[in-house]
Amino acid sequence: MALSFSCTASLTPQRQVKVNIGSKNCLQNVKNLIKTIGIPTISTTPHKSLQKGNWVKLICGASFEDVVDIRNLSLVYTLAGVDCIDCAADASVVSAVNEGIEAAREIVPLRRPWVMISVNDHEDLHFRKAEFDPEDCPLDCSRPCENVCPANAISLEKANSTVQLSYGTNTRGVLTGGVITERCYGCGRCFPVCPYDKIRVVTYVRDATATAELLRRHDVDAVEIHTSGRQTKFFEELWSGLADSIRYLKLVAVSLPDLGDSTVSSMDAMYTIMEPQLHCYNLWQLDGRPMSGDIGRGATRETIAFAVCLAAAKDRPLGFLQLAGGTNAHTVDGLKKERLFQTPAITKNSKDDTSLTNSHSSLCASIGGVAYGGYARKIVGRILCSMQSQHGLAHIEGYPEYLLEALIEALGLVGTVKCYDRTLIGKRNK
Ligand code: SF4
Ligand code: SF4
Repeated sequence: MALSFSCTASLTPQRQVKVNIGSKNCLQNVKNLIKTIGIPTISTTPHKSLQKGNWVKLICGASFEDVVDIRNLSLVYTLAGVDCIDCAADASVVSAVNEGIEAAREIVPLRRPWVMISVNDHEDLHFRKAEFDPEDCPLDCSRPCENVCPANAISLEKANSTVQLSYGTNTRGVLTGGVITERCYGCGRCFPVCPYDKIRVVTYVRDATATAELLRRHDVDAVEIHTSGRQTKFFEELWSGLADSIRYLKLVAVSLPDLGDSTVSSMDAMYTIMEPQLHCYNLWQLDGRPMSGDIGRGATRETIAFAVCLAAAKDRPLGFLQLAGGTNAHTVDGLKKERLFQTPAITKNSKDDTSLTNSHSSLCASIGGVAYGGYARKIVGRILCSMQSQHGLAHIEGYPEYLLEALIEALGLVGTVKCYDRTLIGKRNK
């Protein structure tokens, strides 16, 4: 499988953003493109987007912590009009997201997307990292791990290692490098390809107390709880650990897999646990085929099948429905085929707060929207990668020609849900 992008930065660059004269024209083209499409005027508030069925969330990745990429991705997708940016529950990552949002709003005064942090109640695919000791790897290994990684989170080089022995020194060739931890988002594609079984999986659970601290920040609007849905005791423990921090939020999302016949009863059980403290909107993220959107067209089928089942479930608990897991440029077409794209349904999308939804039975879209992760990162990531290979760690607005290119990609994807005029994006405003 081809690499989608390659970046190895982990620190926020301190460089001053300078824009040369040629690039200034390009920055004007960025502004013109956003104005031509009309994003500032057609963007609705995030909760209205959920109601209309045109909510778009960028998933930076629950374990992806490369703050340079995260800042630039947040900037580009804010300009493209997303409603929410979902990121790892880590203070520096949250700061990078907010920095990207504010940098975007300095270019064009758009409404601020909600910032969501993702946590898990127990072991979960999204909360793990690959790990191995490169010195343990045979020197002649063809390194399939490196090639298969969609985040280019594995970097290996041949080097010499000299060991001091009693009779002198011994020099031998070894591999150095390994997993770039902050870039690994736990997709698991490297695990089965290692012919020597050298790669370990390190799983972790986000700490509830640290999460509660983050939720009290003024620049965090939402939380997403990833759960297997099979054992509500873990969900209950996390929920009680988050305590009163929930009251600061605008949205609580629960990301769950398709549990077949027991999906709705599991949702019911979790909703019952949340209900006493739930005074904001809530959303169910239908996680079809996790972390696979970049693989291809077929990856999106599972989340659409999941949506078909839940949209038809009349007895499910309150909350918006949103697709994730395998979502890509084909997702909206799949929804349209199932007549689920922005089709109205009488649903109940929040507890009972009439000030939030106008009515307990507001006329809402049956599917609130779509979240894009690996695919969204891939299409913009390759431009970020190209910029970094030319200019090193950089703020993308300092290189508006790259920003324009990245924005066109992002608008193409976000526009499938937001129904932007594709012909205007295609003109590229040159
Ligand atoms: S788990 Fe996925 S992201 Fe992490 S190193 Fe392996 S292939 Fe790369
Ligand atoms: S495939 Fe396995 S043995 Fe080969 S470089 Fe990667 S981790 Fe090492």
